[in-house]
Amino acid sequence: MEKDYICIACPIGCRLKLTADGGKLVVSGNKCKRGEVYAIEEYSEPKRVVTATCSIGMDKAVSGFKLERMPVKTTKPILKDQIDSLLKDIYALKLKPPVKRGDVLLKDYNGTGIDVVATRSAG
Ligand code: SF4
Repeated sequence: MEKDYICIACPIGCRLKLTADGGKLVVSGNKCKRGEVYAIEEYSEPKRVVTATCSIGMDKAVSGFKLERMPVKTTKPILKDQIDSLLKDIYALKLKPPVKRGDVLLKDYNGTGIDVVATRSAG
């Protein structure tokens, strides 16, 4: 089994080939060790930083503008197979101002040590 990846660990963007030979994973095409680490992680437990928006109620008369969605992100990459349930929990949030940029909205999501934080201030 072979998989192709493009390393995103630096701007060079090496084209990586991962070969699974029995239980052994072999990476080629990488100019440095980070490419090998990236390909093996991408193959065995891919993760992503999640960005999304959640609901926030803002009174235009008080704030001077109306913000209906608050942009949020995870503090670290999270396993891809947890992203659907995380998004459901993010979409279920109903924030009330004031919210400050960096406020933790979901702490230690599912025991991962990863938080979801606000990426702007409102209110
Ligand atoms: S393998 Fe190393 S040199 Fe190549 S893109 Fe990844 S980090 Fe950069």
